[in-house]
Amino acid sequence: MTLHTGRHFLQIPGPTNVPDRVLRAMDMPAWDHRGPEFAELGFAVLAGMQRLFRTKQPVIIYPSSGTGAWEAAIVNTLSPDDKVLMVETGQFAVLWHGIASKFKLDIDFIPGDWRHGADIGAIESRLAADRQHKIKAVMVVHNETSTGCVTPPHEVRKAMDRVKHPALLMVDTISGLASMEYEHDAWGIDISVAGSQKGLMTPPGLAFVAANGRAHAAHEHADLRTRYWDWTFRNGEAHYQKYGGTPPEHLLFGLRKALDMLLEEGLDAAIRRHALLAEATRHAVSRWAEGGALAFNIVRAEERANSVTTVLVQGREPNVLADYCRDKCGVVLGRGIGDLQGRAFRIAHMGHVNAPMVFGVLGAVEMALAALGIPHGRGGLQAAVEYLGREVRP
Ligand code: PLP
Repeated sequence: MTLHTGRHFLQIPGPTNVPDRVLRAMDMPAWDHRGPEFAELGFAVLAGMQRLFRTKQPVIIYPSSGTGAWEAAIVNTLSPDDKVLMVETGQFAVLWHGIASKFKLDIDFIPGDWRHGADIGAIESRLAADRQHKIKAVMVVHNETSTGCVTPPHEVRKAMDRVKHPALLMVDTISGLASMEYEHDAWGIDISVAGSQKGLMTPPGLAFVAANGRAHAAHEHADLRTRYWDWTFRNGEAHYQKYGGTPPEHLLFGLRKALDMLLEEGLDAAIRRHALLAEATRHAVSRWAEGGALAFNIVRAEERANSVTTVLVQGREPNVLADYCRDKCGVVLGRGIGDLQGRAFRIAHMGHVNAPMVFGVLGAVEMALAALGIPHGRGGLQAAVEYLGREVRP
């Protein structure tokens, strides 16, 4: 017996659900990418992205996955053997580190246990010890999608300022932007990278970099620049150069609609919606955890992300639970990745998501826990419902 027929629930932390309005906006004939109409669309989308990053700096766009934006940040501002400071917050920090190693950067990778955000004190002391300012960049992941952990970029900036270190601050906010508070300018971030497939509610395939004047100054003497990622080339005469080649027009049609939707809702309201739905999820997980088999992966409550919750499963195979949710209920959960493979599942509450979607997912997990005989505290879904009932007043 299965109950999966009906609307499919994709609750993985990216790609996230694409709203019907965005899908419909993409159902268009191709345009002349050299024409004025397309340039107008491109400028509108980039202006919308500036509003999401909260920056006055021009945003650079790449037809690529988020990995491309990681690479773009590196090659546009650094040179081989440059020293950089990175922090092992989880799988995505490890992957970014892997790219940096390929470019022969000299990396100080501060180890982590995947259950905490970046240790800001450790960053500060490494920078304080670097009296000759050999470290050229500090690279952190804002929202570690694998572990469900937030590292506050503004706290990293404050630590850098306390020791008056001139390194660039590069932040991966691929799964943070538009889901959680983010301020590229006000927080003094030099380079922010993002992708289309998470809080931006658009299919995968677009990546973005916001870079300030300090980043552009570093770009002038960066020795890793390649033609495709190069900011200078992309800033050339022809509008279509901004895409490095023929633009992915249909993704831009979709993104324009997604930006309209986010700005109609209001960015602050969208961020608040994420906070409420995340806290509702955490109410359910806290209740389940009373049974002893489940636990929050992230130890400190204040570090838990508002876009995804990673749940550790002890003594049971979490993928069996995820299989049950998918096969019996049509709910697709995120699975543990990297060091968390086979040890955790992830509930995404990111992007185009509302209260009944979260209730549906929590209900499916609770049904799976019961069906599989996994010990858990009762009433997780009820706790989530009651929490939102208290918070969202008539
Ligand atoms: N950084 C973070 C925080 C991510 O969550 C992801 C993807 O999930 C990436 C980087 C890599 O992005 P992509 O898979 O689009 O290349």
